[in-house]
Amino acid sequence: MQKMDYPSQTNEKDIRAPKEPDSRSRAWIELDKDALAHNVAFLRSRLPEHCRLMPAVKAEAYGHGAVLISRQLNRLGVDSFCVACASEGIELREAGIQGEILILGYTAPEDFPLLRDFRLTQTVIDYPYARELNDFGQTIHVHIGVDTGMHRVGIRCERTEEIAAVYRMQNLAVDGIFTHLCASDSSHPDHRSFTRNQILAFYRMADLLQEQGCPCHGKHILASYGILNLLPDSSRQRKTPVSPMGNPDGQESERLAADYVRPGIVLYGVLGSQTDLDMWKDSLRPVLSLKAKVASVRPLYAGEPVGYGITYTAERDMEIAAVTIGYGDGLPRELSGGRGSVLIHGRRAPIVGRICMDQTIVDVSSIPHVQAGDTAVVIGSSGALEITAGQIAEQCGTITHEILTGLAPRLNRIWS
Ligand SMILES: *Cc1c(COP(=O)(O)O)cnc(C)c1O
Repeated sequence: MQKMDYPSQTNEKDIRAPKEPDSRSRAWIELDKDALAHNVAFLRSRLPEHCRLMPAVKAEAYGHGAVLISRQLNRLGVDSFCVACASEGIELREAGIQGEILILGYTAPEDFPLLRDFRLTQTVIDYPYARELNDFGQTIHVHIGVDTGMHRVGIRCERTEEIAAVYRMQNLAVDGIFTHLCASDSSHPDHRSFTRNQILAFYRMADLLQEQGCPCHGKHILASYGILNLLPDSSRQRKTPVSPMGNPDGQESERLAADYVRPGIVLYGVLGSQTDLDMWKDSLRPVLSLKAKVASVRPLYAGEPVGYGITYTAERDMEIAAVTIGYGDGLPRELSGGRGSVLIHGRRAPIVGRICMDQTIVDVSSIPHVQAGDTAVVIGSSGALEITAGQIAEQCGTITHEILTGLAPRLNRIWS
């Protein structure tokens, strides 16, 4: 017999075994391409002709998977993106993402060469930072952040001399200038007037600079809630619910939308809360579903406890199932003890006991024929029932953004 040149432990079975587990074999995220395209079309329908989408794909595109989502957005004609940091921008470039990638946050000076090498655009987060960027000595593309009231980052809007000085810096190519609204999700009259003042302050600054010969092109202001609440709905001619500028006519809406908008959460077909989403659910389609497998079904007899800490004891004979997802996947532990549930065969299975790191136990007593290998829907639809990320957020006392961005890297992300 011929001598084999691979290690003797390797047998034929190993060679034929798949290299990786099936992406739907434990816990996974399914992404709906049509829903993403629908949301992009809906957002475009609200924008003036020349205004470009610059979606926020930071934090793994709100947990969806930054590369998958950005590639698809490229195919849909989107050519500008916002990320939080240089490493997120590099990941997109290495995956072949085309167009402008704006880093919204801080990049340390030791990483400035990466901005150049990966053609990333950096936000000027304050004036001293602009000088540091300029001192790097090679051309860096920037958008100037302007602080109109959020007081997080950006040059204060009244400091027009500093902003003008950034335009004059030799090594900075200023491609844009923007501000961020901090209460555009609110219909409270005080918040509406705060928002209005932020927008007016931004344009006062831009007009002053323009008078001084600064071009101020590439302006942007609005994120998700700004697009929904401040722009008129051209398709339905509906008066905007939270118009800060009175009833914006075409001109005001052009000014508000400016040259780009930066939608994040709305692009994924959800909003900060379920209550907000209920107002817009006819226009938006959630992109993400979260699913896992039933690993084991077993009886739990009256008087027996389940899970860590003996927090739950059966009052009657039950049937329970272990599901292959836990807080290590981003399923919030606050959903323990019956607060949350999953859907199996189109029915609701309440979570019993404490959610574990990798597994969760659910009550399947009222669902016939549950068996190992069945799919459990954690976010998404099953039959006539649906669990939304917004509902989970409300159950946990947080916003949808936090639930989605908490979805762990070990979840497989696939198009459905
Ligand atoms: C995250 C972020 C956005 C997107 O916000 P959404 O509310 O999710 O639309 C837009 N602009 C800036 C500056 C951001 O940090």
